[in-house]
Amino acid sequence: MQVYKAPLRDMRFVLHELFAEKPFGEPEAFAEFTPDLYDAVLEQAARVAEEVLLPLNASGDAEGCRLENGMVRTPAGFKEAYAQFRDGGWSGLTADAEWGGQGLPERVNKLVEEMTCSANLSFSLYPGLTHGATTAIEGHASDELKQTYLPKMVSGEWSGAMCLTEAHCGTDLGLLRTRAEPQPDGSYRITGSKIFISAGDHDLTENVVHLVLARLPEAPPGVRGISLFLTPKRLPKADGSPGPANGVVAVGLEHKMGLKASATCQLEFNDSTGWLVGEPNRGLAAMFTMMNAERLGVGVQGLGVAEAAYQSAVAYARDRLQGRALSGAKRPDLAADPIIVHPDVRRMLMTMRVYSEGCRALGQWTSQALDAEKHSADPEIKARAGDFVALMTPVVKALFTDLGSEAANLAVQVYGGHGYIREHGVEQYVRDVRITQIYEGTNGVQALDLVGRKMPAHMGRALRPFFHSVSALLERMAGQGDKAVAAWTSGLQQAFGALQLTTATIAQRGIKDPEEAGAAATDYLRMLGLIGMGYTFLKAAEIAQARLAEGSDDPFYKAKLATAGFFFDRILPQATTGYLVIQSGKRSLMALDEALF
Ligand SMILES: Cc1cc2nc3c(=O)[nH]c(=O)nc-3n(C[C@H](O)[C@H](O)[C@H](O)COP(=O)(O)OP(=O)(O)OC[C@H]3O[C@@H](n4cnc5c(N)ncnc54)[C@H](O)[C@@H]3O)c2cc1C
Repeated sequence: MQVYKAPLRDMRFVLHELFAEKPFGEPEAFAEFTPDLYDAVLEQAARVAEEVLLPLNASGDAEGCRLENGMVRTPAGFKEAYAQFRDGGWSGLTADAEWGGQGLPERVNKLVEEMTCSANLSFSLYPGLTHGATTAIEGHASDELKQTYLPKMVSGEWSGAMCLTEAHCGTDLGLLRTRAEPQPDGSYRITGSKIFISAGDHDLTENVVHLVLARLPEAPPGVRGISLFLTPKRLPKADGSPGPANGVVAVGLEHKMGLKASATCQLEFNDSTGWLVGEPNRGLAAMFTMMNAERLGVGVQGLGVAEAAYQSAVAYARDRLQGRALSGAKRPDLAADPIIVHPDVRRMLMTMRVYSEGCRALGQWTSQALDAEKHSADPEIKARAGDFVALMTPVVKALFTDLGSEAANLAVQVYGGHGYIREHGVEQYVRDVRITQIYEGTNGVQALDLVGRKMPAHMGRALRPFFHSVSALLERMAGQGDKAVAAWTSGLQQAFGALQLTTATIAQRGIKDPEEAGAAATDYLRMLGLIGMGYTFLKAAEIAQARLAEGSDDPFYKAKLATAGFFFDRILPQATTGYLVIQSGKRSLMALDEALF
């Protein structure tokens, strides 16, 4: 059985202690919120995740979505769960009060999202896409569109969807064919076929607001000729209620490996009325607002599954009796010891644990920057926070989902054959999380974004806040802490040195030969992400030691030190491997003649 209890203690740690000094300041917008309020929000969210969403995870997987008479039906219980979620105000947690939102910081919202993803990844997509769509509408749509759509979406009455992909056009959006014909009243007629559209149709809300990429007549070829259109499933009436159907038809549901309760639709737009969002032919820039929000959200999906998989694996490892501890029986009263005594099982559990805690901490750092980018009154801080978010977006998306997938696989391994069969529910985590490495831009494409765009832009400006933070921590920690902490500091120092060297190598080689940068991209992303995690674990260790020295008897701090120790001994050295791999360049990747594959 899947088990999940929201990790509230660690969430409070990252929220209140780990970044207590607020690396990007505290925007005025949050001045009235108190830590107690945040804790209350997290506790309420935990109840929703554990009591409402988790019980539907396995049943939703078994039942899946159905297409009936052109309407998508979600599995039993989803409608009622969504109604509770909506009525609880969870859809508009971070949205501005102007649109009916609660204006809470992203740094709290991302923890709430994590719980939703842990409890029920399929469910999380419905509000997740609405959140991304509202961000793009708020950033780029006309006032009239904002007034009509944002209050309905922020309240969760209407949901959002993003319509990019077509059968022949996935990563390369320049190939898309959906057309938009201007109409005399200023609207557009949208015609075309989209595939793989998450939450493209469903029965949870009375309307779905599609953000659709399409081409205007005479638009230039490629990505410079793409525009963005808001195209609702049902056209709003004058009083704001949903009116007639708008020619957006779900013609199929994709049959998938996992994520079965999330409706992945094939959609036809038949002369559907749409309105331009942003500038003509500059739709990709507007869509990127949604895509960037979604990328961070997808990273959180990976984290959510890592945590859920970890918790199930721990419960099983405490319970399953096989073999005896190598150091002698630990439970001589039983027929065998629980498998948690075995070093190899420990290796798997600790790996999952550091992935989850490391990603949560790195996610919190990024969310704080996200809040400052949106709300800080100081232009210098706003710009610095924006650079940090830009750098970390591909890292959060790709690293967290790679680690989420690894964690889910490790959970199956901990269960042995009982993980491979369906009964215990851990194989669902493997199937569900796998897509997170693919959608919203594959992880390979995220890595290219990191080395090809984020790294070189403005002479490496986006790297600076990250590099400065790591350098400052290393300087502060030099000669501090006990022997163990000193060794961890030196490990991070070495890995950071390797990252700096590698960054220079990629920059030099990439200018001469872009394939060299492409060959380094995935390893570089992991290296940078691991060093980011190392930064958070070293800070966490510093805090834990200080609390224990002050006399705290909270076992959380001892556990944090043990987890940090595992990270520095067993995970961070992968960064050095990354360095060696990247130094080898593209040579062996490109050596084999295509005909010989
Ligand atoms: C369940 C599910 C839900 C989805 N939800 C949505 C949604 O809501 N809205 C939406 O619009 N789309 C959605 N998608 C589509 C998803 O975003 C795409 O599948 C994804 O972007 C990859 O496109 P593709 O599948 O066509 O793969 P391709 O683009 O064909 O890529 C195939 C492989 O080639 C690699 N590759 C491609 N181009 C390059 C390059 N230039 N350099 C290096 N490597 C490259 C990729 O990394 C990948 O490994 C969804 C897909 C699924 C399966």
